[in-house]
Amino acid sequence: EKIYNPRIGFGLVNSGGKVPLGLKRKGLRIVVTGGAGFVGSHLVDRLIARGDSVIVVDNFFTGRKENVMHHFGNPNFELIRHDVVEPLLLEVDQIYHLACPASPVHYKFNPVKTIKTNVVGTLNMLGLAKRVGARFLLTSTSEVYGDPLQHPQKETYWGNVNPIGVRSCYDEGKRTAETLTMDYHRGAGVEVRIARIFNTYGPRMCIDDGRVVSNFVAQALRKEPLTVYGDGKQTRSFQYVSDLVEGLMRLMEGEHVGPFNLGNPGEFTMLELAEVVQETIDPNAKIEFRPNTEDDPHKRKPDISRAKELLGWEPKVSLRKGLPLMVKDFRQRVFGDHKEGGA
Ligand code: NAD
Ligand code: UDP
Ligand code: UDP
Repeated sequence: EKIYNPRIGFGLVNSGGKVPLGLKRKGLRIVVTGGAGFVGSHLVDRLIARGDSVIVVDNFFTGRKENVMHHFGNPNFELIRHDVVEPLLLEVDQIYHLACPASPVHYKFNPVKTIKTNVVGTLNMLGLAKRVGARFLLTSTSEVYGDPLQHPQKETYWGNVNPIGVRSCYDEGKRTAETLTMDYHRGAGVEVRIARIFNTYGPRMCIDDGRVVSNFVAQALRKEPLTVYGDGKQTRSFQYVSDLVEGLMRLMEGEHVGPFNLGNPGEFTMLELAEVVQETIDPNAKIEFRPNTEDDPHKRKPDISRAKELLGWEPKVSLRKGLPLMVKDFRQRVFGDHKEGGA
């Protein structure tokens, strides 16, 4: 029975902590919005490998066909070019809702479009979930904590967000998406799950999306200086993409609504990250300081005890292990060897 618990939100509270994996269930029909993007395409790989039928819905704003091309011809795979801001009729069991530009460069490019995607797009996918009785998972973000006054951040923290800043289209958009998700859950009985994702990296990230890991890796490969913004003492926690995908699937299959922080608690300053990139790619890479962007959060690190306890999940891949896996993919793309789809 669904009971409200202030610690875990609305969910089955007495499932005994650890959630059975349930990852062996076969033959589900699953929509992945944003499935041609970085995280989505890795999720699609896992779902297809498990034997599910997957429909990717993507408008290709930041996603690329190359990320899912290796599934073309598979009868269990379908790709629809569609913008989630427009309604969509499908018959499915689960909806992983990822569609939304995720890097500051992309979400600031057209802020009104970003907020429409977060609000109207999420509303449409929740409407779809309600109509067909599908379970709905929202990929929210650590940005809902804003420039946090609590460190590390727990899910119970309400955040410190500027409602009128240049990041607001994204962080307030995601906060509204979370609200909508909970209102469909409480009001219409839709089964929902909320993940708050912390900075994630890996193969298939957009090379020029301006994020710090993709920037440093591409810069080191191109023998350009690594651009450190501000004094480089701000911190982030970097999660390898396979850990995130495992967490998203456990969350979807489990009994708990969330929200759940999904991130790697290893915390690095941008200068430390630059050092790891130097060690991994080019010890002679130079560092160049640049002015920082507006509203940049000073520190960010997830408290993942809730996910550990209730989903039996924690990240396995450290930054020093994960970075080389991404470098391999970036090397091929930066130097024009267009072998796509691998991971
Ligand atoms: P991404 O940009 O690679 O993927 C987003 C995908 O959504 C792209 O394929 C894009 O074309 C598609 N899309 C965007 N707007 C759309 C629209 N209106 N209709 C249909 N498709 C649309 O980003 P990602 O890193 O894979 O992020 C996936 C999700 O995870 C996003 O919701 C993002 O907010 C969330 N997230 C990611 C991170 C991270 O570090 N990667 C951190 C926190 C949250
Ligand atoms: N919607 C959709 N696909 C569906 C069902 C609904 O895209 O299969 C959209 C619908 O167009 C609406 C939104 O989801 O804009 C919310 O739908 P809901 O039924 O909850 O609200 P209503 O249509 O009653 O306002
Ligand atoms: N950053 C940096 N150099 C870059 C790009 C980003 O020092 O070339 C910094 C940025 O100012 C921020 C941190 O790295 O403090 C993470 O930025 P990113 O855009 O990757 O993610 P987010 O701010 O969304 O966490």
